[in-house]
Amino acid sequence: MITDNLRDIRKNYENAHPELIAVSKKQPDDKIDEALDAGIRIFGENRVQEAIERWEHRKSSYPDLKLHLIGPLQTNKVKHAVQLFDCIHTLDRKKLARAIHTHAPDMPCFIQVNTGEEEQKAGISLSDLINFYQFCTTDLNMNIIGLMCIPPRDAPAGLHFGLLHKYAKKLSIPHLSMGMSGDYDIALKYGATHIRVGSKLFGERTK
Ligand SMILES: *Cc1c(COP(=O)(O)O)cnc(C)c1O
Repeated sequence: MITDNLRDIRKNYENAHPELIAVSKKQPDDKIDEALDAGIRIFGENRVQEAIERWEHRKSSYPDLKLHLIGPLQTNKVKHAVQLFDCIHTLDRKKLARAIHTHAPDMPCFIQVNTGEEEQKAGISLSDLINFYQFCTTDLNMNIIGLMCIPPRDAPAGLHFGLLHKYAKKLSIPHLSMGMSGDYDIALKYGATHIRVGSKLFGERTK
């Protein structure tokens, strides 16, 4: 089933060659094993503890496995997070930047941008982005590889993907983490390099 879903997802790539992050949060073990059997090696998780439980024991069997943190990160969990994850998509504040820098100075990170200026949503606002980017790269010399966003539910996603693309270009940041099951095809049109797809690949999440 996952092989079929993978084929369907790739049908919409057209000429793009994105990195597909298989979002495995809240998926049962048999689906995880099926994805590994299908050759998928890049997975996304949004909770540190859940990711440790799902992946720590599998890491030794799959040396080429890459795990991406795509959910909010508390500073007191950074130490554990950087031991498991290979990439963090949710860098959005100075305190977190300092903590990641302390424990894993070379960690590849995406800055999460709150393009919709939504109060309840994580991410740095567009007006603070340039300063924050300079803080991360110049003051801390961090490895910032891209920008990430999650568009508001009720807005046309393309508007937000376009904004993120524009800022990445302006700052010469190479990668864009944008697009989920419902809108990755749109994200690809705006230059997404990393798409985060969960339910369209695995089916609905449990719980
Ligand atoms: C859960 C999640 C996804 C995947 O969502 P789907 O709609 O199931 O593809 C992508 N990005 C983030 C940040 C998520 O939390």
